[in-house]
Amino acid sequence: MPGLHELSVSEALEKLRQGEISSRELTHAYLERIAAQEDRLHAFITLTPEKALSMAAAADQKLAAWRRSPSGELPPLLGLPMAIKDVLCLAGVRCTCGSKILETFIPPFNATVVERLLAAGIVVLGKTNTDEYAMGSSTENSAYGVTHNPWNLEHVPGGSSGGSAAAVSARLAPAALGTDTGGSVRQPASFCGVTGLKTTYGRVSRYGLVAYGSSLDTIGVLARSAADAAPIFQVFAGYDPLDATSMNLPLPPIDLQGPDSVRGLRLGVPQEYFIGGLQPDVENAVRQAISVYQSMGAEIKPISLPHTEYAVPVYYLIAPAEASANLARFDGIRYGPRLSGEALWDIYFQTRGQKFGAEVKRRIMLGTYALSAGYYDAYYGQAQKVRTLIKRDFENAFQEVDVIAAPVAPTTAFRIGEHSNDPLAMYLEDVFTLPGNLAGVPGLAFPVGFDSGGLPVGIQLMGPHFREDMLFRAAHAYQQATDWHLRSPAYAG
Ligand code: GLN
Repeated sequence: MPGLHELSVSEALEKLRQGEISSRELTHAYLERIAAQEDRLHAFITLTPEKALSMAAAADQKLAAWRRSPSGELPPLLGLPMAIKDVLCLAGVRCTCGSKILETFIPPFNATVVERLLAAGIVVLGKTNTDEYAMGSSTENSAYGVTHNPWNLEHVPGGSSGGSAAAVSARLAPAALGTDTGGSVRQPASFCGVTGLKTTYGRVSRYGLVAYGSSLDTIGVLARSAADAAPIFQVFAGYDPLDATSMNLPLPPIDLQGPDSVRGLRLGVPQEYFIGGLQPDVENAVRQAISVYQSMGAEIKPISLPHTEYAVPVYYLIAPAEASANLARFDGIRYGPRLSGEALWDIYFQTRGQKFGAEVKRRIMLGTYALSAGYYDAYYGQAQKVRTLIKRDFENAFQEVDVIAAPVAPTTAFRIGEHSNDPLAMYLEDVFTLPGNLAGVPGLAFPVGFDSGGLPVGIQLMGPHFREDMLFRAAHAYQQATDWHLRSPAYAG
């Protein structure tokens, strides 16, 4: 009999409902896998096994009561284990953001997404590793050590949601929350061979997410397939009065086989995403996936997103500018550890100087500079104008096509250490994910093949604002026709 960790989300939920398995058994199976593999993968910053087992026991009680007298709807994810990226607040469990400056911070409240998932019945396995404050593309910027890619332990899992991606890929959790400010759900999903949704900006409440770049930050989910991710998205998305940027729009149930499935879908292929520097294995796998869509009846259209090349400089001005403001609050007074100093200024200086890592300091300096009097118009102001052009590129494209298909990253997972002394090389890895954040559109990444070294290659589909449903349907159609998403690293066993 296959292990419990091999069940899909819908299979697990169905078996829990029928009483064929208990949430305690399922949770235990994942905790055992974590215990066996975590030493080498290091996907988690904090594990919560006792909490998980008591949540599972509570879920089992509810399930048993419901089976005795099935009345009303059960919470939709009752008994399902999940992992949470360590930038999202879970009350009573420390939230480090991958930083030493929050090593001892225990949030007294839940992020809205976490609150909704808890109400829906999930069991929390732990908080996953991330680049410090989600600033990075490899998890190498975590103050708690790097996460290893389950497909090849010498390679990065991507980032910043690398812990979540590695955990899902190695079957240490069926699904995990991530965040995507510049690619941090899609790129690690692609590097680890899993499915990752970046939601539309405004679709999901950011309340309780520790802010990085507030005009770009989005919360998403990583899972093994579109079908596994959809019901989780359905629970945590939607309007929240606690986040003024969340939109009060209907969230219709996602019908994966729905009317606008792939036949007749106009799929745009942007020429700017197939450029020099794109690893040939990546290009081949992505083009092959596009031809699968064609064979399923999609209409493939070449398109142009002409301002794509400006996304890296624009993002690396706007995101650090916002970060420099957002991170001003971490000064040793209110959150986390405090170093001593003779005067208040000295406390700030010592705490921030010693507890922030190098990349975070670099971004704070870049951002402060870009916002400073005299440089503001030339850098931040200019970047905002070009951001509008990038957004218009997408608006124009979506006049002609329904969905855009493109590589997620120019390469597959690189080696640990390969870019760590070259911030610019690291930033350039984000060239294909940043535009979607600058435009605020949703994106769904999923595996479409492997490179010659056996590392996964991902594709991303991007859609108009608030059309996550269309992305889910298109990805599901592909996953019904192919089996890349079912491959798991040998390591996952
Ligand atoms: N890699 C990008 C950065 O370093 C994006 C990170 C993210 O999406 N959180 O900022």
